[in-house]
Amino acid sequence: MKEGNDYEKQKNTLKLINNEFLNCNDPHEKIDLKACDVCGKIVAIDQFGFGECENCGWIQDPNLIEMSDKVLYPNRISLNKARFLYKQGKKLEPDIDDFIAGLMMYSEMEFWYNNKNYGVCHANNQIEFFEDKNESSLQVYANTSEFREKANIDGKLLKDIWKEVVKADYM
Ligand SMILES: [Zn+2]
Repeated sequence: MKEGNDYEKQKNTLKLINNEFLNCNDPHEKIDLKACDVCGKIVAIDQFGFGECENCGWIQDPNLIEMSDKVLYPNRISLNKARFLYKQGKKLEPDIDDFIAGLMMYSEMEFWYNNKNYGVCHANNQIEFFEDKNESSLQVYANTSEFREKANIDGKLLKDIWKEVVKADYM
């Protein structure tokens, strides 16, 4: 009961803030609240149902309810995996397979390793892997499984050093 009241109170406060201070023409204006699909905490959403959870980082996406095993932009892992990781107290970070799933869906990905920025592009039926601003670093692979098995940084396989990769995200 108490929780329900808090929810209504927060919802009303949010409406008040929106009406008074925010530009009402912003299509991504937060107009409602919902329970986060991953952690259950209250999160503000726009008219399309999108909004980032401040507690767990999950971006609410109503399209995912029907596709809970898919990696879909802007989230970097699937909804089911996010729930699984959250329950284990782990961060919602993609493994190399989530990253590849994101690549096939979005075509351009990036990450950081040892303070260097790397890009991966899926174009012309091949996968290009390179260090930012370093043309000689280009590696080209015919498909995702070849990329997964052979992509490397200074001879170290990407799949083996993935734990040290940070900020793996859409470009
Ligand atoms: Zn959350």
